Amino acid sequence: MARFKRILLKLSGESLMGEKGYGIDENRLAQYAEQIKEIHDMGVEIGIVIGGGNIFRGLSGAKKGFDRVKGDQMGMLATVINSLALQSALKAAGVASEVLTAIRMEPIGEFYSKDRAIKAINEGKVAIFSAGTGCPYFTTDTGSSLRGVEIEADVMLKGTRVDGIYTADPEKDPTATKFDEITYDEIINRNLKVMDLSATEMCRANNLPIYVFNMDKYGNLKKLMEGENIGTYVHP
Ligand code: UDP
Repeated sequence: MARFKRILLKLSGESLMGEKGYGIDENRLAQYAEQIKEIHDMGVEIGIVIGGGNIFRGLSGAKKGFDRVKGDQMGMLATVINSLALQSALKAAGVASEVLTAIRMEPIGEFYSKDRAIKAINEGKVAIFSAGTGCPYFTTDTGSSLRGVEIEADVMLKGTRVDGIYTADPEKDPTATKFDEITYDEIINRNLKVMDLSATEMCRANNLPIYVFNMDKYGNLKKLMEGENIGTYVHP
């Protein structure tokens, strides 16, 4: 039995580029699809939000002279590209999915609504929520908190390149130690850069717990669903 019935899985766009400096690494993508299949086979109901940082980020664009809103729209389109890539990889792994878009763009994907998302999930499909919130000045972390709350997920699983939340960035500070669990308030008070503030606040206000874990270690997603205490659990 899986630990959670319905999950919102957040995948970072940046992780999708694997060893490459840009774009999509097919091996990493296939590995994600296989891991998702493993938990889909356990009967878990799955919604996914994927970032776009492997292709374009509005904020970095603005630093290079792009108009911020245009840059954010480019970033949102990047998440659609990644979502289509994930759908294709899931199909190859034998898992049916539906891409919903926060901005109208049929026939690329159906326009998102909670009802459509629940319908897809009830049909046994993985629902992929693309284009973030559909609004500039937000991130896909906020988009995934929002979708997680909307689809009444039991938990949001934030797949990252590190194995949880640390006192400091473990890639920069070797003395950093990992939390097994932490409250939303502590994240905010310690100013930990786990997600942006609006995303953390959205989860806190609506009691959506989060697991931050290393998605790049094959098998971790299934282990988490089987009840192994990997990663960091964020709770009220
Ligand atoms: N974005 C946006 N609104 C949203 C979600 C995303 O404008 O609701 C844009 C923003 O420019 C962001 C980019 O899409 O930088 C890619 O998303 P994100 O940076 O969250 O991707 P990740 O870091 O997870 O790869």
